[in-house]
Amino acid sequence: MDMGIAGKRALVCASSKGLGKGCAEALAAEGVDLVLNARTVGPLEETAQKIRDTYGVKVIAVAADITSEEGRAKVLAAAGHVDILVTNAGGPPPGVWSDWDREDFVKALDANMLTPIALMKALLPAMIDQGWGRVVNITSQSVKSPIAALGLSNAARAGLTGYVAGTSRQVAPSGVVINNLLPGIHATDRAVSLDSGVAKAQGISMEQAIETRSAGIPARRYGTAGEFGATCAFMCSQYAGYMIGQNILLDGGSMNATM
Ligand code: NAP
Repeated sequence: MDMGIAGKRALVCASSKGLGKGCAEALAAEGVDLVLNARTVGPLEETAQKIRDTYGVKVIAVAADITSEEGRAKVLAAAGHVDILVTNAGGPPPGVWSDWDREDFVKALDANMLTPIALMKALLPAMIDQGWGRVVNITSQSVKSPIAALGLSNAARAGLTGYVAGTSRQVAPSGVVINNLLPGIHATDRAVSLDSGVAKAQGISMEQAIETRSAGIPARRYGTAGEFGATCAFMCSQYAGYMIGQNILLDGGSMNATM
């Protein structure tokens, strides 16, 4: 299937590893030039070079904290014209409702709600002017099915989801498509860190923690960054023009719901 996006230019945030990297690789496989971002230079440059070598697309790598105003300014200045935006950042730490105070919420809202909103505000005008654009926000299954220990994430991502629900309908007449992609458990560093939390809390090994968490997923396994990236590439494709403001859940069937 030709996604019809070869030669377009995508900014993929937080993309040296994990789900962001999966999205970057899938877009590169479609011939999309990339602007990659992460905070740590080494893995970022390594991913950028691997993508250049494998797919032959142009790749700019910008080391910056995308959740800070300075970081975003640096990334946007280096990116220039962008046809496709994939927003992403690290997720907030787990905890208990009584642990979190105002500063914790401000940090989570900054990273997982206000950062994607600022990036959309910066890049949507040019997409509207050219009559074509795609935005995919990486959020979480916690938007549909709350994860109690991730209250900061539940709250911030639900806020972004509300914003996207309205904004996607305001920009749709200009050929700009905004949707959210909701990961359930995927085999990335983030999953390893959550697995080790489970192992520690329950006094079990990492293998047992993975087995326990996999047993609760109808697909009986974690998702892969490759599967996630392929879905992202489709949501950025010429075929996604009629998909407006949707929340696409990739969770191996974990959320038990008829619709
Ligand atoms: P990951 O494997 O830990 O990768 C995170 C990537 O983001 C790395 O490249 C990291 O590089 C970069 N990054 C983190 N914070 C950044 C920042 N402030 N500015 C720029 N780059 C940043 O995580 P993942 O599993 O791909 O998760 C991606 C998102 O999906 C997270 O928000 C996570 O909460 C959410 N999610 C993941 C799962 C899952 O099972 N994996 C499930 C639900 C939701 P640097 O550290 O070098 O910056």
